[in-house]
Amino acid sequence: MKSIYFDNAATTPVKKEVFDEIKPYFMDFYGNPSSIYDIAKESKKAIDKARKQVADAIGALPEEIYFTAGGSESDNWAIKGTADALEKKGRHIITTKIEHHAVLHTCEFLEKHGYEITYLPVDEFGLVSVQDVKSAIRPDTILISVMFANNEIGTIEPIAKIGKIAKENGIYFHTDAVQAIGHVNIDVNEMNIDMLSMSGHKLGAPKGVGALYIRKGIKISNLIHGGAQEKNKRAGTENVPAIVGLGKAVEIAVSEMEEANKKITKLRDRLIEGITSNISNCRLNGHPQKRLPGNANISFEFIEGESMLLLLNMKGICASSGSACTSGSLDPSHVLLAIGLPHEKAHGSLRITLSKDNTQEEVDYLLKELPPIVERLRQMSPLYEEYIKDKEAV
Ligand SMILES: *Cc1c(COP(=O)(O)O)cnc(C)c1O
Repeated sequence: MKSIYFDNAATTPVKKEVFDEIKPYFMDFYGNPSSIYDIAKESKKAIDKARKQVADAIGALPEEIYFTAGGSESDNWAIKGTADALEKKGRHIITTKIEHHAVLHTCEFLEKHGYEITYLPVDEFGLVSVQDVKSAIRPDTILISVMFANNEIGTIEPIAKIGKIAKENGIYFHTDAVQAIGHVNIDVNEMNIDMLSMSGHKLGAPKGVGALYIRKGIKISNLIHGGAQEKNKRAGTENVPAIVGLGKAVEIAVSEMEEANKKITKLRDRLIEGITSNISNCRLNGHPQKRLPGNANISFEFIEGESMLLLLNMKGICASSGSACTSGSLDPSHVLLAIGLPHEKAHGSLRITLSKDNTQEEVDYLLKELPPIVERLRQMSPLYEEYIKDKEAV
């Protein structure tokens, strides 16, 4: 049976060119980058190259890039590192209600240690208000952390405007750009970003590698203590093959971005149009324009997202309802609740995230398979039965 992968916001396959690039660093150039003989120098050189590739992609300097074990570590480091370094200045942090759990749960952890967190609301499209950010600033605010683009509904936040406010007020500004990098133009200087998180496995590099950009002059405490790697800021022998992969994948993603976005946007719009015009009682979540090119998130009334996923899986289609973490629990997605969906609608949502490897045939296959699935599930729903009765009574 065919398998169609529509869950690119959860993870992506490693790109062929990336895999080819990292292979020698397992068995040929296996030296510890901190050692001085020749094979070790190859590892060191490879890391330096990756650091430049990552820096170039966001307009940063190579020495401002620190490799980590992924997006979650980068988020934890930016937030906990700032909290610890600036605790004398203040203990107030501003973030939003729709952040990834790597940010939200880190903030909740800090609350237990005496920090105060303002969780800004978002509008019905998932947008943070720049005015709200401004109004939330206090003399003891040490950090603003707002994600670049949301992983569930794809909304792209006004990062440059928030960066400007942070700068004017002398407050560190961190953005979780895990979903944005490779899909949206990012320039850390133009946008006044002080710290930026990214992750390898969301853009064609292996899992378990990421990076944190830290602007020169920004002082945050270490999260991982130990050896002197990463200029004494992030201990642990470098994951050389994965770092090489991250560099290569970021370089490819940024160089292909414009062309890929054109193709993906077209597929996405065909998908959204095809679903919303053929299935009743459904709506697009997220912003109609300010959204990631590959993201379609749609709520269907009267049914459960999880049941939809199971039936889609039987047709060989991989998709998601909310985020991967949400799929593991019965709570509705915090993002969908934050944009104002009632619990029952938040439960009936489907997230389809496309890559440039998806085809129109695949999209059309989904458009053919989805309506009968929704219909079948609605036939089993007492809520739907009631709704139809009420409608006929009118
Ligand atoms: C996936 C993701 C993360 C976590 O990255 P990992 O590398 O899986 O730890 C953080 N933030 C966002 C927005 C994500 O989509």
